[in-house]
Amino acid sequence: MKQHVPLIVGNWKMNPATVGAAKKLFLAIRKALGRKRLNVHIAVAPPFPFLSELERLSPSQRISLAAQDVFFEAIGAHTGEVSLPMLKSVGVTAVIVGHSERRARGESDHEIYEDVSTLFKSNVTGIICVGENERDDSGNFYSVVEAQLRSALRGVPKTKLKQLVIAYEPVWAIGTGAVATPEDVHEMKLFIQKILTDHFGRAGAEKVRVIYGGSVKKKNAAALLEEGQVDGFLIGGASLKAKEFVSIINIAHEYEKTSV
Ligand code: PEP
Repeated sequence: MKQHVPLIVGNWKMNPATVGAAKKLFLAIRKALGRKRLNVHIAVAPPFPFLSELERLSPSQRISLAAQDVFFEAIGAHTGEVSLPMLKSVGVTAVIVGHSERRARGESDHEIYEDVSTLFKSNVTGIICVGENERDDSGNFYSVVEAQLRSALRGVPKTKLKQLVIAYEPVWAIGTGAVATPEDVHEMKLFIQKILTDHFGRAGAEKVRVIYGGSVKKKNAAALLEEGQVDGFLIGGASLKAKEFVSIINIAHEYEKTSV
């Protein structure tokens, strides 16, 4: 049985180039959503400098604002970093932590744990990204995901599980067009839930959303939801095209409506 209303998050990464283009994209998404009531939680994660402008365009909070990262300290001499109080002050309600593009630039499991620890002292949703660089025949990728997950979960108190989201994002599928099969995604979801159960008990694990990211498009979204059994998506490339992004949101809405 499904536990959660689907969550669809657009990760804009370092796009688009200007605040004007960001506003245009945001408004195009809003327009494509129309007025229909959708049973889907929607968020977009634009680059930091655009957050406060976009906050003004979303007075109803129909589209929540997420950040692509956070630094664990609140204030002080940390050149180039952005803190949680700063993000909250511009309307951010969710933060992506440990994205593979940041891990590839040297972000360690320990740093991710520190960011997670700070985040889960607040009421902000934490989207923790995990995923293997490559798949091998002997299943070693499971231990990669397990190590990333266990390290980050040390920073999450049992009382905050409703605001925890795990994004399974196999690195080989990000931005490549090589999407994981729904069967592989389902197996990994079960594996992640097993670790969550280990850590928080069954009732605790059931509160956590497990979403998928990696070349999600409107053509593969339904199968990933139905057979992959994930609770939503983290979407990069396709979230920069308003119509494609909203098509995926509508697919999630239909899925939520028809499944029990
Ligand atoms: C991502 O960056 O988190 C992502 C999933 O990207 P894409 O959808 O482009 O593969």
